Amino acid sequence: MPRCEPAPIIGRLMPDLGEFELIERFFTRPARRATLGVGDDCALVQPTPGTTLAVSTDMLIEGRHFLSTVPPERLAHKALAVNLSDLAACGARPVAFTLALALPRADEAFLAAFARGLFALADREACELIGGDTTRGPLAVCITVFGELPAGAALLRSGARPGDDLYASGTLGDARLALEAFRGQVALDADAFGQVRRAMELPEPRTGLGIRLRGVATSAIDISDGLTGDLGHLLRRSGVAAVVDVDALPRSAVLAAQTVALQRECLLAGGDDYELVFTALPSRRDAVAAAAANAGVAVTRIGRIEAGEGLRLIDRGGAAVASEFGSFDHFRA
Ligand code: ADP
Ligand code: MG
Repeated sequence: MPRCEPAPIIGRLMPDLGEFELIERFFTRPARRATLGVGDDCALVQPTPGTTLAVSTDMLIEGRHFLSTVPPERLAHKALAVNLSDLAACGARPVAFTLALALPRADEAFLAAFARGLFALADREACELIGGDTTRGPLAVCITVFGELPAGAALLRSGARPGDDLYASGTLGDARLALEAFRGQVALDADAFGQVRRAMELPEPRTGLGIRLRGVATSAIDISDGLTGDLGHLLRRSGVAAVVDVDALPRSAVLAAQTVALQRECLLAGGDDYELVFTALPSRRDAVAAAAANAGVAVTRIGRIEAGEGLRLIDRGGAAVASEFGSFDHFRA
């Protein structure tokens, strides 16, 4: 069974690079969309006229957000992906990002792999690295993303109304299943483990879907801390209740092969999914399906919005499902 190896991801073989050489070699590329990129005191970016800037920050700390065994390419991918996921939840198009990096050592092999993973996703999303900060310290990656969207078009947590359909993109719960496998709580064969580990380490930000849901969805949020908790945020901000069919929650074949109890825990309280949960009027089902098809992402109707407050879970037959699942909280966990 694959287990977490305590090997540090920063090697100790190469001599340290200097701070400025490091920035120059690994994080400086010619500015493209930006007026001025890495190298001066500030980066300069000219917003497209008529657009609103969408800004979000997420920090990843070793031991808390990622295991020391994660390959550096995947660490960089995830650090940017979780930020892009926030832009997706607002329906914003990625434009640029900054990178604040704390490293115990300026290890070349680590930095080369990290930069490779970072720019692979950045280029795919047309999101440009425009600046940052680099310091020695315990391994931590903090990214701030900047996106843009037409004024007034942002998808917000506060827009859900009674009668709206409730949807989730992709599949939920695999990242949590991977964590359980890493902890030795569940046994998976190598294939299955590889799949769920990918979900945990290489989440796909749903930016294309978010952009296409502008004017279609009434509200949206991305799932970072688990469906129950994150949907709870959306419900409170909207002042509504929801009913969710736990049997309708989209899941991978690997997760579907686990016990019902484990499936529900992973689906409802998993976290690290980076899928979108959103609402839309029942009259817009065709528009939702078109947005999903155009974005190349599956979306599943998982329930509906009701008047009142709180989240009610039911099964396929309509029977109530007890919910003891909270969401992840850094100060309570
Ligand atoms: P200052 O001291 O003026 O804040 P720094 O010496 O920290 O500037 O950084 C020099 C330049 O390198 C700046 O343009 C900064 O944005 C950029 N930079 C620093 N670290 C990174 C990084 N990890 N990724 C991208 N750009 C970076
Ligand atoms: Mg300065």
